[in-house]
Amino acid sequence: MPGSGIVFAVAEVVIFLAAVGLFAYNAWKKVLLIRQGKPEWEPRWDRVPERAAAVALEVFGHSRLLRDPFSGPMHLGIFWGFTVLFLSVINFFWEGLSGSALPFTDGRLWYHLSMNLFYAIVLVALAMAFFRRLVTRPKRLELTCEALLILGLIAGVIVTDVMLDGARIARHGAAAPGAFLGAPMASVWLAMKAGPRCLDLAYAASWWLHAAILLGFLNFLPFSKHLHIMFAPFNVFLRSLAPKGALQPIPGIEEREFWGAHVLPELSWKMLMDGLTCTECGRCEERCPANQTGKPLSPKKLHLDIKRLLVQEGLKVPGAEREPIVSDEWTKTDEVWACTTCRACETECPVGNEHIEKIVEYRRHLVLTQGSIARQPQIALENMEKHSNPWGLSSSTRMDWAKTLDLPVFGKGAKAEWCWFVGCAGAFDDRNQRVARDLAAVLKAAGVSFAVLGTEEGCCGDSARRLGNEYLFKAMAEANVEVFKKYGIRKVFTACPHGFNTLKNEYPQFGIDLEEVAHHSQLISRLLAEGRLKPVKDAARRAVYHDSCYLGRHNDLYAQPRTVLAAVPGLTLAEMPRSRDRSFCCGAGGGLMWAEEHGERVNHNRCKEALAACAEGAGAQDACVAAACPFCLTMLSDGINDLTQGKGPKAVDIASLVAASL
Ligand code: SF4
Ligand code: SF4
Repeated sequence: MPGSGIVFAVAEVVIFLAAVGLFAYNAWKKVLLIRQGKPEWEPRWDRVPERAAAVALEVFGHSRLLRDPFSGPMHLGIFWGFTVLFLSVINFFWEGLSGSALPFTDGRLWYHLSMNLFYAIVLVALAMAFFRRLVTRPKRLELTCEALLILGLIAGVIVTDVMLDGARIARHGAAAPGAFLGAPMASVWLAMKAGPRCLDLAYAASWWLHAAILLGFLNFLPFSKHLHIMFAPFNVFLRSLAPKGALQPIPGIEEREFWGAHVLPELSWKMLMDGLTCTECGRCEERCPANQTGKPLSPKKLHLDIKRLLVQEGLKVPGAEREPIVSDEWTKTDEVWACTTCRACETECPVGNEHIEKIVEYRRHLVLTQGSIARQPQIALENMEKHSNPWGLSSSTRMDWAKTLDLPVFGKGAKAEWCWFVGCAGAFDDRNQRVARDLAAVLKAAGVSFAVLGTEEGCCGDSARRLGNEYLFKAMAEANVEVFKKYGIRKVFTACPHGFNTLKNEYPQFGIDLEEVAHHSQLISRLLAEGRLKPVKDAARRAVYHDSCYLGRHNDLYAQPRTVLAAVPGLTLAEMPRSRDRSFCCGAGGGLMWAEEHGERVNHNRCKEALAACAEGAGAQDACVAAACPFCLTMLSDGINDLTQGKGPKAVDIASLVAASL
């Protein structure tokens, strides 16, 4: 005890209880703020082992952060140092009260060695953190006083504990085994020839300083970005376990008078929790194609807006007037409309934040409640409504692309194992009609039993849903589900990752449980594995593969398209620096295929990278950019043409490459 007698014991207990009580009060107030959100559509407390495994991997294992070789180990060191330090904190207050350490730690080698080891790790990690904040200064991090204060407080906790240990060793003459940091500190005191009174004073001062920093830090937490220490494990645990590519429906859509989110309580409690949990690390922003091409959207700011407005408004009774979150003051409509729903942000976020659902909730409010949307996407929505395709071409011409192919059609009595959902791009867009014809040749060569829906096929509704028109999406999904049911269809494949994602992950919300929904990359790779397809012609060219967001990040299909490309004889498969789950979007997702783009185009940014990858290595003289998505194919073709005045490599679908080699 740093002093003697009952006065110090009472002082310690009073200060400790007051500090912990104040922290609990402020932390509970934050929980109450979160509880103002509306209920989640899906359960968030089910599948506990799966959720616990995610916490173990991502929170305790730092699996996402460790992808960065500098900040990953640095953060892991601080995290584990702090976790282990917790035992030392308990010991510290216990010793202050009782005069002796906890019996199972007192003088134990394991205890002192592990504490000193983790203290050393934290100090090294802190030095790295200061270096990063002050010297290398990555763009995604803002240099704020708060960030430096937090690093200083962590350092203060460690240094004062080591000072305390040093004064104790110097006073009583024997270092605990393993206390390799305290012993040198003791020699400093001894070198200064400090007497017993001076050492008692140094011990007491270190003790109170250590206690003040610990309790001060604890009470700073609820007001700082380090609130994530409290919320991150819960935020990861409570993350959606629905399929990644599925957006949630609007419950009771028909009975509502307003839709989407305009004020904070119209967001779900998990969305509000995301805002409070954001660590401001900027990892999402760094990967966001909209942000990286100068659009006003920052997925980090999206969360900070929620946090700041939530704290500013505080607790209000239900129905009280609220400040709109989508406004010139907070998240602007330009930000809301810049998102391609590429999921790069969610893939990077270390605390399990879910960005896309919030953006779509804002869009739903703008489109359905306010009727506010830019002219071009509005035209696409009108086309979908009138003609069931965004191009606005007559739905009676949906099969014109296959006039010469004599494809089996369910409506004309065909019976088949698979339904080929051609999709609007394959049916109406010239470039993608050619891909559809190539795919038909591949399927026929492999003897696949398939039929199409012909003019009974409707738009899948992906763009309508992501542009916020849930009404229209619902109508489209229900119409297609009815046709599937009419013909007893159980297995569907499509060449479009958007249709694939919607049919596979979203149509079950409309009462259909298909046995299998496959993307053509899966089907072709299966046919190759079964020996039903034998590409023979030597391609002798280089193919740079571009991962589609809706195939990759939304559905984890990275290997299949590469397997297909690898099967083409003579073809050299090349990668761009940003590939697989760090692929850069083409710019067409989220309904932005139909929107006007200002500033640097996302597809130009991506195509520059693709052109660089095409230019070097084997087969470069006849390189191409391979895609497995009609939207990507369009954006890549247009981007390459813009950048090379039509003289660059071609963008080609994987099905066309296989067809050419048969
Ligand atoms: S989904 Fe993509 S475009 Fe939208 S905020 Fe996230 S990273 Fe940016
Ligand atoms: S949303 Fe996630 S990735 Fe983005 S700044 Fe916040 S914590 Fe970092």
